[in-house]
Amino acid sequence: MKPPADGRRILPEFTYEQLEKLFAEWGEPSYRAKQVWEWVYKHLADDFQAMTNLPKALRQRLGGEFILSPLEPVEELVSEDGSTRKVLFRLQDGETIESVLMLYPKRRTVCISTQVGCPIGCAFCATGKSGFKRNLRAGEIIAQVLHFAREMKPQVNRDEKPITNVVVMGMGEPFLNYDATLHAIRTLNDHRGFNLGARRFTISTVGIVPGIRRLAKEGLQVELAVSLHAPNDELRDRLVPINKGYPLKRLMVACREYIEQTNRRITFEYVLIDRVNDSIRHARELAALIGGMLCHVNLIAMNPVPGVPYGPPPRRRVLAFEEELRRLGISVTLRAGRGVDIQAGCGQLRLRELSKRGAADVKA
Ligand code: SF4
Repeated sequence: MKPPADGRRILPEFTYEQLEKLFAEWGEPSYRAKQVWEWVYKHLADDFQAMTNLPKALRQRLGGEFILSPLEPVEELVSEDGSTRKVLFRLQDGETIESVLMLYPKRRTVCISTQVGCPIGCAFCATGKSGFKRNLRAGEIIAQVLHFAREMKPQVNRDEKPITNVVVMGMGEPFLNYDATLHAIRTLNDHRGFNLGARRFTISTVGIVPGIRRLAKEGLQVELAVSLHAPNDELRDRLVPINKGYPLKRLMVACREYIEQTNRRITFEYVLIDRVNDSIRHARELAALIGGMLCHVNLIAMNPVPGVPYGPPPRRRVLAFEEELRRLGISVTLRAGRGVDIQAGCGQLRLRELSKRGAADVKA
C-alpha cells in the first residue's frame, strides 16, 4: 500500500515496540515510546505540540515525519434525538468512509469501517452499491475511534472511558482486511494506552469462513457477529452473494467449531426485509439452522436505501418473527433501527456523496 500523500507516516499505525525501535534509532531514550503512546491513546492528543513533556526539537521532528490522524471529517449528521452521529471522513487519497457514534444511557459505541466500499455487494446495502476501492490501513481504522474518543472526552467523568464499545460493522468486510483490522483492535486493546477491553469489540463478518477459523486461534476475547440474513442457501445466494463461496453448511460448521474452540457465544445478525426473509416459515428454518448452538440472534428491520427495491417489514411481521424464534427456544433481541433520519445504514452517506460527484462506479 502507498504511503500517505505527503509522505508523512501515520503514527497510530506503529505498534508500541515499533515506536521503541524508532526512538532507539533516533538516539532517544526508550521511555519516549511510553510518553508518546500515552499522549496518543490516553490523553488523546491531536497535535504533537501538545506533548509538553517531550523536548521541542523532538515534537518538531515527529510533526515533520508523522501525522496523528489521516482522517478529515467532511460531513456530520446528527439524528433528531442526538443519540446517533454519523461522520463522513475524507482519507488522504480523496476516498471517503463513514463511521457512526451511538450514545446509549451507559455506553458510547463507535461503529467503524475497514474498507473503502465493499466487494461483497449485499442486495440491500448502500455500501455494496458504491463498489469496492481498497482496504483501509490500520492507522485509518484506529483513527476513526480516536476521533470520537476526542470528541467525547470532555463530556465524560475522568474515570470513565470516552468510548466504551467498538463494533466493526461499518463499510467493508473486516475478514477481507484481516491483518489491519486485528492490528487496530490489538492497539486499542493495549493496556498501556487506550486500554479498551477485548470484550468491548465486536467483529461482524458476512461469513468469511477462513476469517472465522483464524479468529478462533487468536486467543482474543472479542465478540463475533455473523450476518446471516437468510436461513437457506437459495435465498442467501441472492441477498449475500458470498454465500456461493461459503454456503450455509460450511459456514455453520465453522461457527460450531469457533464456539467449541473459544467457548464464546456467536451473535447472528438478521436484517428483516419485507416479504423476502420475514415469514414464519423463515423463522422456523432459521431456528432449525442454529438450534442448539451457543448463540444469540439480533433482529433488525432493514434501513430503507434509495434505489434499492427492498424495504422494512411492517411492525407486526417483525414482532411475529421475533415471537416465533423465541417460541422455538432461540435467544433473540429486536434491535431498534437507529438514525434512520440521518441515513445511518451502512454506506448511505458515501453513496450520496459519490452520486453528487457523479462517480462512475456507483452501480445503478
Ligand atoms: S452489508 Fe456489509 S458485507 Fe454486505 S455489502 Fe454492505 S458492507 Fe459489505
